[in-house]
Amino acid sequence: MAKVITRQEQEEKNTWNLKTIFESDAAFEEKYKELEGRLGEEERFKGQIDSLETLADALETERELSEEIGRLFVYAHLKHDQDTSEDKYSALESKARTLVVKFNTAWSFLVPEIMKVDEETLEEWRMDPRLSEFSFDLEKLNKKRAYVLSDKEEKLLAQAGEVMSNPTSTFGMFNNADLEFPDAVDSEGNAHALTQGTYIDLLKSSDRKLRQSAYENLYSTYGAYKNTLSQTLQGVVSTHVFQAQARGYESARHQALSNNFIPEEVYDNLVKTVNDHLHLMHRYTELRRKMLGLDKLKMYDVYTPMVKDVDFEMSYEEAKEWMLASLEPMGETYVNIIKEGLENRWVDVYENKGKRSGAYSSGTYGTNPFILMNWQDNVNNLFTLTHEFGHSVHSYYSRQNQPSNMSGYSIFVAEVASNFNEALLADYMFKNLEDTKKKLYLLNEQLEGFRGSVFRQTMFAEFEHKIHSMKEAGEPLTAGRLNEVYGELNRKYFGDAVEYDDHIEVEWARIPHFYMNYYVYQYSTGYAAAASLSKQVLEEGEATAERYINEFLKKGSSDYPINVLKNAGVDMTTSEPIENAMKVFEAQLDQFEALLQEV
Ligand SMILES: [Zn+2]
Repeated sequence: MAKVITRQEQEEKNTWNLKTIFESDAAFEEKYKELEGRLGEEERFKGQIDSLETLADALETERELSEEIGRLFVYAHLKHDQDTSEDKYSALESKARTLVVKFNTAWSFLVPEIMKVDEETLEEWRMDPRLSEFSFDLEKLNKKRAYVLSDKEEKLLAQAGEVMSNPTSTFGMFNNADLEFPDAVDSEGNAHALTQGTYIDLLKSSDRKLRQSAYENLYSTYGAYKNTLSQTLQGVVSTHVFQAQARGYESARHQALSNNFIPEEVYDNLVKTVNDHLHLMHRYTELRRKMLGLDKLKMYDVYTPMVKDVDFEMSYEEAKEWMLASLEPMGETYVNIIKEGLENRWVDVYENKGKRSGAYSSGTYGTNPFILMNWQDNVNNLFTLTHEFGHSVHSYYSRQNQPSNMSGYSIFVAEVASNFNEALLADYMFKNLEDTKKKLYLLNEQLEGFRGSVFRQTMFAEFEHKIHSMKEAGEPLTAGRLNEVYGELNRKYFGDAVEYDDHIEVEWARIPHFYMNYYVYQYSTGYAAAASLSKQVLEEGEATAERYINEFLKKGSSDYPINVLKNAGVDMTTSEPIENAMKVFEAQLDQFEALLQEV
């Protein structure tokens, strides 16, 4: 393995240019002092939101402050991430973080005070041109009014917050700090450390004994604590149910989806449509069984690559060319934004000692949409880079076209632009690669991505809704019942090619996302929306690309997420986008099987 360089050894052209935010640390310090001095400015609005003018003034002041603090925080956090071992920037980051908290606390009075203005008056005010940029935010507040309780009740609920978060923190501590697994042992008798972090890598191994050992040791351990973990999971489900009932929502799911104004039919549609297409998932598991040359597939065989020994190397320079070429269907402006990012150092490309691991797109209003990478010379990194550029272009367009309070985007649509880019890249590479083995490798990755994001997350969503409904009907969530429900779903999704054992039934016990209140379905809907939109662009061409840019990328959060997507060409309240996504998956299965004939 090549020696990891230090931050100082990085060539400047491969690092992000944070001078575009602050020229120097001294300039940061100056801004910090200035903003610190503006704490307290909120005092003049307290108890004063009694006219349109004061409301507009308060909202504008708060917005201006959050823009400035956002830039301060982004500078500090990116500086910190580029080398987390540098004390100076770790101090800078925590200083900026503290200031963010102080401002949020100072301004937390504003929303409750706006809610004290009666509904009709607020409706009238928000139609005034002076408030036009806040009109949509105020409309959303008015819509939530029905679920706001009295001052006394709200205070009580807020105070109970820490108690109610206990099941989640208990699970987190147990799962991350206390739980230990016996080593996994490979076919030659060598021991491999088994942790949350190594588990999936061990399951990708081509050594079946090692996979089996990792799988059995992991789930036997969870199985030994299944009663305790059924109680932490029941605890969090109970708090969701309690909060929904306290506020008068119809159900826990109704409350959770109402946060982003997502109709519940979106959820039901997803589950139903995916269920209608489980034959495709079964065809995939059967194909996997055949490719691996097994009589029966076991649950520890579902992660290992079907296509072995493909050396798909890719330098950063080559990767940039593939990415740019693949995005050409999006038109010149879109491609030029990415070129600008590559030329003007939005990307921090290579690994160095102390650098934050993984990859992300970050930034805020008034900064570039920076990208952190830890580049390795392989094709998977090309996909990561293209994915992050999807986020960055989305942020770029939204920030250029919306005021800052509407330039963010909700989690419901957050993974659409990134997966969209990946889909265009996969399509382009598949059409332009000559080596059949490389094509098979790519298709394998695509099929796995789809299985992981759509089938697996929908199975999770089905489980999550089932256990909430059970709790709402008064049924206790015992370990036995959870195992039963999970086992049934797992068998339904994976089908007959798999020979089941009891271990997988307890998988529910290790999934942190089940503590996040109806979160997982958005992986499936986001992925499906991206698959459907990219299919449309590839089939229909430029006009459709334009529509996607204008109606989706530029819109930020200036409308309800479901409307933004609908205007861009996918109506998530119908089954059509999921069906389109299934067609993409089916076509990839066909291609995979056809290519197998060639090798
Ligand atoms: Zn992403």
